[in-house]
Amino acid sequence: MQDMDLPKLVNRFHSEDKCRAYLEELRWPDGVECPRCKSKKISRLTERKQYECSDCRYQFSVTAGTIMHDSHLSLWKWFLAIYLVTESKKGISAKQLQRMLDVSYKTAWYLCHRIRDAMGDDEQLPLKSIVEADETWHGGKKKYTGSGPYNSHKKVIIGAVERGGEVRLRMAAGRDRGTLHRFLNEVVDDKAEAIYTDDWVGYVGIADEDTFHKTVNHAHKEWVRGDVHSNTIENVWSHFKRSVIGSYHQVSVKHLPKYLDEFEWRYNNRTNPFLFRDTVKAITQSDTLTVRKLIDGK
Ligand SMILES: [Zn+2]
Repeated sequence: MQDMDLPKLVNRFHSEDKCRAYLEELRWPDGVECPRCKSKKISRLTERKQYECSDCRYQFSVTAGTIMHDSHLSLWKWFLAIYLVTESKKGISAKQLQRMLDVSYKTAWYLCHRIRDAMGDDEQLPLKSIVEADETWHGGKKKYTGSGPYNSHKKVIIGAVERGGEVRLRMAAGRDRGTLHRFLNEVVDDKAEAIYTDDWVGYVGIADEDTFHKTVNHAHKEWVRGDVHSNTIENVWSHFKRSVIGSYHQVSVKHLPKYLDEFEWRYNNRTNPFLFRDTVKAITQSDTLTVRKLIDGK
């Protein structure tokens, strides 16, 4: 059950004041804090919908220092955009957001990217118990079976998924042993029970004293042996490809890592009823220091 739906969203947030109050609650659950000196001695400048720090005299708004701040877009449109991006099961394109929100394409594009940035999960825990790993090619249809870089338009996506748990995806130039081992060492817990893959040579040697490595031989049409299979990660691939084709038509290599982040987030939050709230919260904790772009909001 989702905590948020469209009628609720409209009811709760259709005014700027309501959006502002919600942002305050998420950004400063323990009371408003000065972004500059961290003081909690704050007075409210209700007329200007701002706060003033009693210690350093800094005046700020609830969006100060966040990616919402530099946009001229109303908070309500931000909320709608966050709702649409987080609740579209297959993702949403900038074109579609442009039409739905009545904003310029540039604004819609900016919103999609900033919301996706915020959705990127920085603190990912290592995958445990049984992990399935696999790779797939992105861009181009030609089948390629080697291990090195193929060409600049094609990239490998390598993935690992914990059964019943989260997924980790990365873009890579190839699927050689070094790349695959580095990836798995990074995302899989040292004490994971087992890693299941197909019999691609790049996975050879991934086992150690704590973690089994079991394979199914796809070349010999072996897909399942007992509980050894890679159906979970295969599902992730087909889901990912449907979402790219269905919503974006194509994703350039340049933007692929961001789409992977978004897909990961969506997958890892597939049972999170508070996805909307968590994304809004992540945005209140984002900062504009790295992304300082103005948009022509409507
Ligand atoms: Zn201050």
